[in-house]
Amino acid sequence: MKYYILFGPPGAGKGTQAKALAEKYKLKHLSTGDLLRKEIAAGTQLGLKAKELIEKGCLVPDEVVEGMIESAFKTVKDVDGFLLDGFPRTIAQAEALDAILERSGETVTSVLSIMIPDEMVISRISGRAAVEGRADDANIETIKNRIATYHKQTEPEIAYYRSAGKYNEVDGVGSIEEVRDRLFAVVDAL
Ligand code: AMP
Repeated sequence: MKYYILFGPPGAGKGTQAKALAEKYKLKHLSTGDLLRKEIAAGTQLGLKAKELIEKGCLVPDEVVEGMIESAFKTVKDVDGFLLDGFPRTIAQAEALDAILERSGETVTSVLSIMIPDEMVISRISGRAAVEGRADDANIETIKNRIATYHKQTEPEIAYYRSAGKYNEVDGVGSIEEVRDRLFAVVDAL
């Protein structure tokens, strides 16, 4: 089984590119953000707690997302692998993922990172707010906090995966098709 991590700052285009990658390589796209938004829509206890944190631009606790990912690994069948989008987002989550995979004799295949500059994060997310209607996209303070959270808590994963020889980065500036082809080229070369 393949386990790809789609990495990048908020607004880099992970969700959009995940769809193309999942289709081409027969992967199950697992977005922790989407899973959390489903919990919010369903009005679950977990959703209520997550909503408050998400709307502030903070991360939900590691255990919450780790549990979601582990149960998806167990239930999803008939795929060649998984494409993780928005997870892991902290070094602790990266270590938990390694431990979860190790228990079944598996390992992270590769990290596919889409990089865009901070200035572009704000314009991309503000543009998306009107289309997708996400509350955390519509508030500038929330967006700024998500960028800060990314730099502080998520960016250190780059060194983590680089030292494991699993980090691959593509330029996220360009058309959707250009970025998609850069990602396909990375996966095809693995
Ligand atoms: P996303 O759709 O990936 O941009 O995620 C939206 C929000 O959900 C994030 O800003 C976090 O509040 C929360 N979230 C998503 N994935 C994670 C994760 N792996 N760890 C903690 N919080 C997460």
